[in-house]
Amino acid sequence: MSENCLFCKIIHKEIPSEFLHEDDICVVFRDINPEAPVHLLVVPRKHVRSMNDIQKEDRDIISHLFLVAKHMAKEQGVNESGYKLLFNVEKGGGQMIFHIHLHLIGGWKK
Ligand code: 5GP
Ligand code: ZN
Repeated sequence: MSENCLFCKIIHKEIPSEFLHEDDICVVFRDINPEAPVHLLVVPRKHVRSMNDIQKEDRDIISHLFLVAKHMAKEQGVNESGYKLLFNVEKGGGQMIFHIHLHLIGGWKK
C-alpha cells in the first residue's frame, strides 16, 4: 500500500467501489470516466508506480492481469465484437494514476 495512491485506497476499500472481479492478485472496477460502453480497469493489488518499474518478479502479476482481462471481456460480452487492452505509461503516454492498471475498452456500437 502506498499512501496517497487512489488505487491503493480503492483496493483497500478506503474508497467505496464496486469490484466486478477480485482475487488475491488483482481487482477489477469500472472506469469513472468511461471512453466506451465497457471500460474496466484491471488493477494489481501490488503497488507498482508505472510499467517502467515492473521487475522480473512481477511477471506472474502482469500475465495474470491479461488473463483476467480476457475473462472480463467475455463476461461483459465484448470478446467477439472486440476490445482494446491498454497500459498508459508515464505522463507523456497518458498515465494519470501512478499505480499500474490495464484498461479494457470496448462495446462500441456496430
Ligand atoms: P490512466 O490515465 O492513468 O491510464 O488511467 C486512469 C483512469 O482512472 C482514467 O481513465 C480515469 O478516468 C480513471 N479514474 C480516475 N479516478 C478514478 C476513480 O476515483 N475511480 C475510478 N473508478 N476510476 C478513476
Ligand atoms: Zn497504489
